[in-house]
Amino acid sequence: PIQKLAHMSTQLQEGITGFQRFMEIMNLKPTIENKPEAIVLPEVRGAIEFRQVTFRYGDRSNDVLSNLSFRVQPGEFIAIVGPSGAGKTTLCSLIPRFYDVSDGEVLLDGVNVRDLELTSLRSNVGLVQQDVYLFDGTVLDNIRYGKPEASEEEIIEAAKHANAHEFIMSLPFGYHSEIGQRGVRLSGGQKQRLSIARLFLKNPPVLLLDEATSALDNESESIVKESLDKLAEGRTTIVIAHRLSTIRSAQRILVLTEDGIVEQGTHHTLLARDGTYANLYAKQFEYQT
Ligand code: ADP
Ligand code: MG
Repeated sequence: PIQKLAHMSTQLQEGITGFQRFMEIMNLKPTIENKPEAIVLPEVRGAIEFRQVTFRYGDRSNDVLSNLSFRVQPGEFIAIVGPSGAGKTTLCSLIPRFYDVSDGEVLLDGVNVRDLELTSLRSNVGLVQQDVYLFDGTVLDNIRYGKPEASEEEIIEAAKHANAHEFIMSLPFGYHSEIGQRGVRLSGGQKQRLSIARLFLKNPPVLLLDEATSALDNESESIVKESLDKLAEGRTTIVIAHRLSTIRSAQRILVLTEDGIVEQGTHHTLLARDGTYANLYAKQFEYQT
């Protein structure tokens, strides 16, 4: 035990140095909080604009995003493609303000997200990621998370839209089945459909889909994709996707590399350009349909 303690003391020492360093970074970096007179938009249409956005994590010297500008119209469906590490996830995380930009502006309906009341900003942005967060509780509780005051009828309606109603009804206690660590095991596609049901309830005007289906097998992918397409209707949607089928349906594709947005256009115009997208396409998608 004494030896262990001696070892721990060294670790502790290293830990303290690490902690000081952490505090230095934290002091330099302003925290994400509401401005004194933060704005609540009465009705969000879902226009997104990046205006010369530069972003780096903490005190890192390298910019992940550098002087990035683009606009997305309300209701538009765009896809972002690019190599791993290009900054696609980072870009999306700036919209609900998980991080503040280092320079430039991110705007929602023409208002800098830094000026918006944080809870209301985030209630207008729906996020679907590869990993779904489910907590210990019933199916009903887990879907209700999208809108705490929702009635049971509303929850069932949302589950139907999300192609989840049938599998939920086949669980031992239907909507009252326990899920999470101590409950029934759900497949990746089933979890994803619960997260989509949450978003039908939440009903945000802006939707961010970050490789939502990339971990799924083909069959679950097509069921999830069908409900995602329904969810995207009438909302501004930014999808980060690996699958050609998803990207093809985008009105516009932005190609993001470490050099920024190097190309944008439709699938066909970008292929015709025979540039970065055509190259990515050849490497990544040639065996997909
Ligand atoms: P993509 O989604 O296009 O694969 P990411 O946005 O995840 O790219 O990452 C872009 C770059 O930022 C990568 O170099 C990655 O290592 C770095 N990065 C991502 N998240 C963090 C973080 N939380 N802290 C520091 N660096 C990060
Ligand atoms: Mg990513």
